[in-house]
This record gives sequence, structure tokens and C-alpha cells, in this order.
Amino acid sequence: MKIIAGNWKMNGAPAENKQRLLDIKATADTSENRIVVFPPYLSLADAVEILGDTDIAVGAQNCYPKASGAYTGEISAAMLKELGCTYCLVGHSERRQYFHEDSAFLKEKIVALMELGLIPVFCVGELLEQRENGSWKEIIASQVEDVLRGMDVDKERLVIAYEPVWAIGTGKTATPEDADAAMAWIREVLAKNQLPTDLMLLYGGSAKPANGEELLAKANIDGLLIGGASLKPDDFAAMSKMGDK
Ligand code: PEP
Repeated sequence: MKIIAGNWKMNGAPAENKQRLLDIKATADTSENRIVVFPPYLSLADAVEILGDTDIAVGAQNCYPKASGAYTGEISAAMLKELGCTYCLVGHSERRQYFHEDSAFLKEKIVALMELGLIPVFCVGELLEQRENGSWKEIIASQVEDVLRGMDVDKERLVIAYEPVWAIGTGKTATPEDADAAMAWIREVLAKNQLPTDLMLLYGGSAKPANGEELLAKANIDGLLIGGASLKPDDFAAMSKMGDK
């Protein structure tokens, strides 16, 4: 079983996304893999309603760690849970970059989500410069350790996505070998920190129908977090069937 997840980012007004959800419902294959969609907040209620009688899970792209209160514009984990979401992205590089989210804040989000039984998909990954100057291992290790050290996590309650920032939305995909090596490194870091090494690890970064199978064939890659290609129901449907049977 792989996890095939689609991050729609800030794409699609509600009417367009309703159609996208109907198309995904009609075409995505849930017989072997766990399929998750992450539409924008405004389409989450439609997603839960349209996909409610399928095995396709719905996740949010973000949440705020406080339970409620004077946090104008924010959405809590409890609100997402009541709506019917089961997953939430945390630490996507776009949020780290544009909204300056740091490890302490990401940890708070993960704690808030896990307390309610929502599954965080915790994203880590290095910049191009860090890949090129060889510091990627240290960067990924600190991203993982600073947030997860000391936490009580297991494979049912937390997923990690390795998303090299230079591969996100750029059309450049990490080679399956490089992606696998980075994910093997994440498992080493987990082991060093007495965290479970069997967490599901997703690869993200320009994954598409043409490269999905070769990525999923690698031992350390348990699934894909797909941005651009997940907006195209045909591509997402093709990828929903990928991976080991
Ligand atoms: C992402 O946003 O998580 C992502 C992997 O995007 P893309 O597939 O478009 O590179």
C-alpha cells in the first residue's frame, strides 16, 4: 500500500474544484493505495461531501495550532476534524519560505493535530544551494530532529514527505536514487532519535505519470505528494494506481 496524495495549493475556485472532485471521484483508484486530496480550505466541505462515500481521504493544507480564539483568518485542527478532514500538511516549503514558519511552530501544529487524531504530513527538504554544497544531510536532519525529537509518533499517526525545494513546481525531479538516498537518511535520523523508522515517507517534487512508477519502485519511498499533476484528474487517476501491488 502506497500513499498517493495531491496538494492542490491555492488553485481552483469552489466551482472549478467541485468539478475536479467529481472527476477524481469517478477516476481515482482506491483499490490498492491510500489516496488523499488536499484542496484549498474553501473546497474542503465540498471534498468531504463529494468524496464521503469513497475511500479517498481529505486533508487540509494548513492549520493553526491554537484550539480557538482571537486568531483572525486562521483555522484550527478541531474545525478541520469536525468538517471531516483526516490529514493536514505541515511545514510545506512554501509555508516555510513565504510565511516564515519555523520548527517550533511546526511542532505546535503537529501536536495539535495528533491530539485530535488528525494525521500530519510533515514536509522536509533542502534548497538547491544546500543540495549542491553538500549540506543537505544536516539540513534534513535538523528539520526532522527539531520538530519530532521526543514526540510519541507512529506510522498510523504521522507521515513525512521529503520534498527537495529545488524540485517543487520546477519540473526538475530528484532522481529515484537521490530521492531514495535522502529518504534512507531520514530513516537513519529517525533511528538516531529513537523515533520509529517505519513511518510512511512520501516523495514530492515534480512527480508525474512519467516518473511516478520509478520513484515508487525504490525501497524507501512509500508514496508521493503530488502538486501540479494532482490538478489534472487524468494524471492523478493514473498515479493513484501506481506502486507495488
Ligand atoms: C508540492 O507542492 O508538494 C509539490 C510536490 O509540487 P509539484 O509536484 O508541483 O512539484
